[in-house]
Amino acid sequence: MDTEGADDLHDFKSLRIMPLEEEDDAEERNDEADTEEVDEEDEEEEEAISVTLGFVEKPKSPRFLLRELFPCKAGGVPAWLDPVDLPSGQASLCDICKEPLQFLLQVYAPLFEKASTFHRTLFVFMCSSMSCLLQDQHEQWKRKSEKPNRSVKVFRSQMHRSNTFYSSEPPMCDGSDKPTISGAALCSWCGTWKGEKVCGNCRSARYCSEKHQVLHWLLGHKSDCSRIKVSSSSSSAPNKTQSNFSASCRVACNTLWPEFEIVNEEESSHDADEPEAGNSATSLLSKGHVDETMNSLMDKFEGSDDRKSWASFQERIGKAPQQVLRYCRDLKAKPLWPMSSGRPSKVDIPTCKYCSGPLSFEFQVLPQLLYYFGVRNDPDSLDWATIAVWTCAASCEGSVRYKEEFVWVQLSSLSTI
Ligand SMILES: [Zn+2]
Ligand SMILES: [Zn+2]
Ligand SMILES: [Zn+2]
Ligand SMILES: [Zn+2]
Repeated sequence: MDTEGADDLHDFKSLRIMPLEEEDDAEERNDEADTEEVDEEDEEEEEAISVTLGFVEKPKSPRFLLRELFPCKAGGVPAWLDPVDLPSGQASLCDICKEPLQFLLQVYAPLFEKASTFHRTLFVFMCSSMSCLLQDQHEQWKRKSEKPNRSVKVFRSQMHRSNTFYSSEPPMCDGSDKPTISGAALCSWCGTWKGEKVCGNCRSARYCSEKHQVLHWLLGHKSDCSRIKVSSSSSSAPNKTQSNFSASCRVACNTLWPEFEIVNEEESSHDADEPEAGNSATSLLSKGHVDETMNSLMDKFEGSDDRKSWASFQERIGKAPQQVLRYCRDLKAKPLWPMSSGRPSKVDIPTCKYCSGPLSFEFQVLPQLLYYFGVRNDPDSLDWATIAVWTCAASCEGSVRYKEEFVWVQLSSLSTI
């Protein structure tokens, strides 16, 4: 373990997705792993790897989800870790329909083994169109020689403790925390991506894309534009405290997914015989509602292998049915697949685009999140069985501020492809 065991460092660590107490265990386990032979049929062994579960909660205040507090969050807009050098151009678009991607969730997952990953956040975006996701299914099997057109993308951002954006002291979380510099201006419509284009008339509204400029114009800005023009010419430039307000307040579109905080609990704390006992206080929904969602997924499965796989998936998930995220950055960790079909094999997982090193599985998102997002259960609605994310095992550095990592989506029914 590290030697700089100052109290304030501990405060930082308490924000991370894996609690401090787990770290010693995880490291020891990795050491052991080197001497053990790699065994594919290690289901029982897998049980022993500690998994952190993520649950969604309505934030007590939108303030808690601001970037200076390094949140784990789902829905709404991203709390960009590096607020300046955001992914832009093609990276921010669905490669299939070319619409800007929608923010799904972000996980604050610093790694204390390296100075450059003192802060580290992973961001998941996806196109909300199910037909794009169905095409994405074919793209994800492509080897790296062909460039896959993805409708789901994951970015990794990381930085040193001492950086230009945040205090090197842990946040107080009492409303006094402020980022040291304001971020790039964001799109007035989606609030997600960089607002690189400016409305030629009011010179105030900004857009990530022409598509969002047109939407904003048709759905409100047309009438606001000249009014803004008058008021902005009589007042000074936007003041620096702007970033202290909830970013969501400045977003014009109403199609973002609802915003939640993701809170973490160890899966082992749900091992009790009574599955609901552990998280009834923090859950938003009764277990019955979630079971309904899960049962409707079950109806779609066909093969007996998938039913068997689904049964063991459901048994494991049943310990804490409201979980939306399973996190485990352990070299031996593997995703918990709902189905046996549509899983990648080792050769389907590429190497890191930036350092060519191996990727390792880090977390997966569960379909319960769609329920919390209020996504309908219609045939053409967005739906998936799980989204699994692999990241550079070395969490490499380099000049690209947001590095694209590898994501695999397993759909709940292969028959719809
Ligand atoms: Zn799309
Ligand atoms: Zn936009
Ligand atoms: Zn305008
Ligand atoms: Zn790498």
